[in-house]
Amino acid sequence: MINNTVDIVSYTRDELKALFQEIGEPAYRTDQLFSWIHQKRVSSFDEMTNLPEKTRAWLRENTVYERPAVVRKQVSSDGTEKYLLGFSDGNCVETVAMEYEHGVSLCISTQVGCRMGCAFCASTVNGLVRSLTASEMLMEVYESERQKGKRIDSVVLMGIGEPLDNMESVVRFYDLVTDERGYGMKNRSVTLSTCGIAPKIYELADMKKQLTLSLSLHSAFSDKRSKIMPVNLRYPLPEVLEACKYYVEKTGRRITFEYTVIHGTNDLDEDVNELAKIAGMMQSHVNVIPVNSAGRGDFEATRKDAEVFASKLIKKGVNATVRRTLGNDISAACGQLRRETQQL
Ligand code: SAH
Repeated sequence: MINNTVDIVSYTRDELKALFQEIGEPAYRTDQLFSWIHQKRVSSFDEMTNLPEKTRAWLRENTVYERPAVVRKQVSSDGTEKYLLGFSDGNCVETVAMEYEHGVSLCISTQVGCRMGCAFCASTVNGLVRSLTASEMLMEVYESERQKGKRIDSVVLMGIGEPLDNMESVVRFYDLVTDERGYGMKNRSVTLSTCGIAPKIYELADMKKQLTLSLSLHSAFSDKRSKIMPVNLRYPLPEVLEACKYYVEKTGRRITFEYTVIHGTNDLDEDVNELAKIAGMMQSHVNVIPVNSAGRGDFEATRKDAEVFASKLIKKGVNATVRRTLGNDISAACGQLRRETQQL
């Protein structure tokens, strides 16, 4: 039913077609509108010059088409840019643009806050406020491109929030951002990172999307993992790993294991051995990162700790790398800027 809250940016081309049919607009206008929103990315309906004024007036009256406000912007000495984006209800999320040799990678948020409760993560401190809509996630991409002045080549869903706790909107975002008549991002250039909600991993696998799945592992022992990631009490590691194996089999894509080294806690030799076993269970790659202690709690690790841990894994034949840390001087680890701003 049409009302004045139609979230037009979240509409797929098929849905727009149905909507236009309902209001008696010719079908070809669907492609025009879709292109204005997702390819030309104009700021208002007024700029959609090949749509008749009557159509634009209808859109103005019945739909929402809003850009987020850039509440704060930080630029790191290494070129990383971080934006605190504000939506019309006053909520803010963080988006980080990082430059690599192969282009700009954007880390986007999927929720305002998070209810997963990981012990080291700043995003979860005050719990979940709400999930983002697909259009808000798209706007993170479009607004970041505008700010950065460069095309966004890839997206990682590693900002604030748990993507699989907002699966419907995340999948809708994925379908829209990869639509070749829209932004046209490559299917494989979107990475979804999850703390491990097993049933949702199965669901995602069955959709057979080409997105890259990344599991935040952080410990290869289920009991140890439960201590830092409460989600593991609900979906214990063996169950999550079964789901990951299913994902690899179903999609033919290798999986990434994110491993945040917390010195003295999860980087012992027993951790190396157990992690090597897990990595051997399926086609995978281990991404090692030193924990960012500005997150919360007294968790610490140096880059050297992460390198030592990764080299031990490599010796065991594991495909492991240490992730480059970008934006250290602008507290680019997820959730930090939003938290800082809330505390001002
Ligand atoms: N909820 C999803 C995605 C957001 S978190 C997930 O859990 O994967 C993105 C990544 O940042 C996760 O691997 C998370 O464990 C990691 N992370 C969170 N806080 C961190 C910190 N203080 N230092 C290093 N990595 C952190």
